[in-house]
Amino acid sequence: MISEKLNAALNGQIAAEMWSSNLYLSMSFCMQGAGYDGFANWLKKQSAEELDHAIQIADYVAKRGGKPQVSKVDAVPVEWASPKEVFNQVYEHECKVSQMINDLVRLASEERDNATQDFLWGFVREQVEEEATTMSISEKVAKASDAALLILDSQLGTRA
Ligand code: MG
Repeated sequence: MISEKLNAALNGQIAAEMWSSNLYLSMSFCMQGAGYDGFANWLKKQSAEELDHAIQIADYVAKRGGKPQVSKVDAVPVEWASPKEVFNQVYEHECKVSQMINDLVRLASEERDNATQDFLWGFVREQVEEEATTMSISEKVAKASDAALLILDSQLGTRA
């Protein structure tokens, strides 16, 4: 059985993952509006992945006899000036998410909940990949000329 404290913290992470999902969907709409269909595709896939994280956490809480809850999710921004601004924020946001996961691992350790620590290590490992991927995209977009930006857009359009 999961502790109430950890249950509440994981419910907070469910809301944070949903906020991330909305953030990337909003970015996707913005990029689509600016004619970058490939960036929009990548962000839409990223948004779906974040929603899946929320569901994975909820399923885990339920399995441990806790009560998963969807609480209020704050509004996300709707405008970005450029792909550079978008992907810089994506990278910064992923770094923030990594910190949140680290804090949850620490709490699970304090609560002496080995199963939850084990569950969260999967997210820790995934965040390493998320940070590396989004840092690389953000650096490429930052350095790109207008023509190179269109090539990157078409490359990210292939994300399945
Ligand atoms: Mg996530």
